[in-house]
Amino acid sequence: MRRETIAIHGGYETDPTTKSVAVPIYQTVAYEFDSADHGAALFNLEAPGYRYSRIANPTVQVLERRVAALEGGAEALCVATGQAALNYAVLNLTQMGRNIVSVPQLYGTTYTLFAHILPGQGISVRFAESDRPDAIDKLIDDDTGAIFCESVGNPAGNICDIEALAAVGARHGVPLVVDNTVATPLLLRPIEYGADIVVHSLTKFLGGHGTTLGGAIVDSGRFDWKAQARRFPMFCQPDASYHGLVYAEHFGAGAYIARCRSVYQRTTGAVLPAVSAFLLLQGIETVALRVERHVANARRVAEFLRADPRVAWVNYAGFADSPYHALTQKYFGGRACSLMTFGIAGGFEGGKRFYDALKLFKRLVNLGDAKSLACHPASTTHRQMSAAEQAKAGVTPETIRLSIGIEHIDDILADLDQALAAAQPHQRSPLLAAE
Ligand SMILES: *Cc1c(COP(=O)(O)O)cnc(C)c1O
Repeated sequence: MRRETIAIHGGYETDPTTKSVAVPIYQTVAYEFDSADHGAALFNLEAPGYRYSRIANPTVQVLERRVAALEGGAEALCVATGQAALNYAVLNLTQMGRNIVSVPQLYGTTYTLFAHILPGQGISVRFAESDRPDAIDKLIDDDTGAIFCESVGNPAGNICDIEALAAVGARHGVPLVVDNTVATPLLLRPIEYGADIVVHSLTKFLGGHGTTLGGAIVDSGRFDWKAQARRFPMFCQPDASYHGLVYAEHFGAGAYIARCRSVYQRTTGAVLPAVSAFLLLQGIETVALRVERHVANARRVAEFLRADPRVAWVNYAGFADSPYHALTQKYFGGRACSLMTFGIAGGFEGGKRFYDALKLFKRLVNLGDAKSLACHPASTTHRQMSAAEQAKAGVTPETIRLSIGIEHIDDILADLDQALAAAQPHQRSPLLAAE
């Protein structure tokens, strides 16, 4: 099936018992065993079925199959949030005394996880100077468990060369983990370019309505753990926490997700509620249509802002002179994402005045909603950082990050126009000039 069809049907067939066409919400904690032997077989992972919803739930499982199919992966685990997914995805590849190598352009909370939380657990994160393959390559050693990048960095807007990063990983025997939240599998499937693991915040475009938190970890099923047994003993040696099970042998291509589930989700429990899985499935049904509209509206906004003398600069990968133009063509077929940053003349105060004047755009920290959203990082998400740290994260005092929604384009442009006018009352609006 094509992605547009998978988004609607993937992972579910009409329920054989009730004939329910909508995915049922299995609001249950536990599942009854036929007998002691049946219970034992389930606990030995020998019989298929459910035991307890901290391990697996049928509603969540439909979502897991749908997201895995959308990404072209073998299996998926869905968890409570994107951050839980990132934490589990990385922990599952490393252990105390080892490291991962990451690009520097990261979502703020991922940066905190990598720079402050994982090191406290004895896992070091080596930040490369840039997202270039050679910058990543030189940081990899025998203790490296993963290369990490965001396919489209949030909020930097950089586009990573997934194929080149995957080739670096393959040369060293290290899997590439890609956060594909901003791009979505509708625009890019990293596994097709050699990525091994894909992570999502389902909270954003996939859910699409700003109602429900969720995260997903998708495994391509292709990484050969046994060929890298020294680097990945957790998949190749008997697991004392699961009566001596060897994941790579017992689960084959499903080893990575099985261990994520039975080690991290089972023992630390960042479970996705069944109702959340249902709501996220509702959102995913329309993601293909929404992304098309997001992309088309974003292009119009980027062109509008760039042509406006009240705007100092626009960072949008869809421009022909963007440093990411070639990668946008290669990975997105020219369809640049609907996340962009721009700056108006007038610095921090100008940025604030613009932000405060918005009427249709919601002032908040989120992205990928059907609604148009705006964030002023210098006064919110990046407020605690020094000016130098902000600059490294791609944030200047006037920077505004926009997530362009799927409203009518005229209403979106009109709101931006009136907010620019409020920020810079002495400058004339090109929209009015055209009328
Ligand atoms: C929002 C976001 C996350 C975190 O997801 P939550 O569901 O909010 O935990 C991770 N990565 C990126 C790129 C994001 O935009």
